[in-house]
Amino acid sequence: MSDLEAYRGRAIGWLDSVAASFGRAARLGLTEGDDLSLGRCYMAAKYEAGFAGINWPVEFGGQGLSPLHKVAFDTEEMRYGMPTGYFSISVGMPVPVLIRFGEDREWVQERVTRALRGEEIWCQLFSEPAAGSDLAGLRTRAVPDGNGWSLTGQKLWTSWAQYCDYGVIVARTDPAVAKHKGLTYFWVDMKAPGVEVRPIKLAGGDSHVNEVFFDEVKLTDAQRMSPVGGGFAVAMATLMIERYVATDSGGFGPHLDLFIDLAREIEVGGKAALEDGRVRSAIARNYAMRSGLEAITRRAMLMMEAGMEPGPEGSLNKLFSVRSRQKLSELAIDLQGNAGFAFDPHASVKEDWTTSWLNAPTGRIAGGADEMLLNTIAEKILGLPQDHRPDKGVPFNQIPA
Ligand SMILES: Cc1cc2nc3c(=O)[nH]c(=O)nc-3n(C[C@H](O)[C@H](O)[C@H](O)COP(=O)(O)OP(=O)(O)OC[C@H]3O[C@@H](n4cnc5c(N)ncnc54)[C@H](O)[C@@H]3O)c2cc1C
Repeated sequence: MSDLEAYRGRAIGWLDSVAASFGRAARLGLTEGDDLSLGRCYMAAKYEAGFAGINWPVEFGGQGLSPLHKVAFDTEEMRYGMPTGYFSISVGMPVPVLIRFGEDREWVQERVTRALRGEEIWCQLFSEPAAGSDLAGLRTRAVPDGNGWSLTGQKLWTSWAQYCDYGVIVARTDPAVAKHKGLTYFWVDMKAPGVEVRPIKLAGGDSHVNEVFFDEVKLTDAQRMSPVGGGFAVAMATLMIERYVATDSGGFGPHLDLFIDLAREIEVGGKAALEDGRVRSAIARNYAMRSGLEAITRRAMLMMEAGMEPGPEGSLNKLFSVRSRQKLSELAIDLQGNAGFAFDPHASVKEDWTTSWLNAPTGRIAGGADEMLLNTIAEKILGLPQDHRPDKGVPFNQIPA
């Protein structure tokens, strides 16, 4: 048995042992506040068991294992419906970026341990009302203020900000240069005076995204995580992690096994849907697609392990996984007939087909909209000509708003 398979076996053993305390049955009917508290306990238990920060450096409380070990654990964990969603952005992007770019190593170490244990949560403050796909068009500004900076502006769609202790943020520090060049990357204390978080209600009834307002929030220069004007490169490093680490091949929808179980239970034309040729072909297509994406991810992980940067093919991951989740969820709803309309506002996107379908459109926007991913594939993989960029090289303050 390979080391990886032995590791997977150990992970399953541990997950089985805690499933009754933290898994889907334990979460049934909990309020969001109670579910978050349970999630914090789960994160702490995972840390104690040695399954937190699997591919992070040991000196930061991680396990120092390969990204493939992380994928193996995540794949198994996904099956149990554990309360990990609140922490997914935090330990997904901002904290790994903090490990890489944070200056005060002692402080970083403390934050990383606390984030891994679920005691602190980080958010990613990139998008704004007029800057999503065009991240470099952001308008939140940080102006020099004594020994530090004063931050003013608005972010939008910030996941889980209402529960966050810290965030990573990109702000404009020089409006007189081209838009990509005048940005700087900071971390910000979400409890600091001048920070206001307003939750937004989504179609599924949940409010996990927020508007965040900054009104002359003081930042010290030690909170800067990039050279002044060098924030775009750190933002890109964050998004690179997002493409690979923060998307599974199921596009964050239910596991394919759950669809097979459903097709086994439901009858179409007097026999199990699983015996229907169209259903079988949908399963086969979905399986093939997931296997292809997993192969791309595995290759990227091996590249990272070898100290290389994986390429733009991470865009394929998000584009195809979320699209196919949407299709499979739609088929699952159709198969259930009227029962497919039943909607439980507390159900998880990873277990419930209606919730998965309802949330798929936002999944096709968050972290890079479909059209932007298509642009990346066209330009960076297929080598087609660049999209029209009329503001290229123009000083930001001369671009018409
Ligand atoms: C559920 C959810 C969670 C999110 N969480 C976070 C978070 O935690 N932190 C954060 O910073 N952001 C977050 N976002 C924001 C997300 O990154 C943006 O919504 C996304 O980048 C798209 O930006 P936009 O909403 O401004 O849409 P726009 O950029 O205005 O795009 C609108 C439409 O125009 C299309 N379009 C835009 N430019 C082009 C082009 N050049 N060519 C072709 N088509 C184009 C887009 O594809 C899209 O269909 C989240 C969003 C959602 C929905």
